[in-house]
Amino acid sequence: MKIEPWTLKKSSKCYNCGDATIHEVNIDQYKMTIKCRECGFTRYYNFHILETPE
Ligand SMILES: [Zn+2]
Repeated sequence: MKIEPWTLKKSSKCYNCGDATIHEVNIDQYKMTIKCRECGFTRYYNFHILETPE
């Protein structure tokens, strides 16, 4: 099954610069990245989506 990537915008406090800014959240089948618009700091998360039995 093909999963289309998501892009979300979320206001949250940056881990790096400490500002409450807009973060771009990109989620695809294998990973999620959260990027601070202010300083460009990006966090990566890897995961695997489990197949759901139909
Ligand atoms: Zn930041």
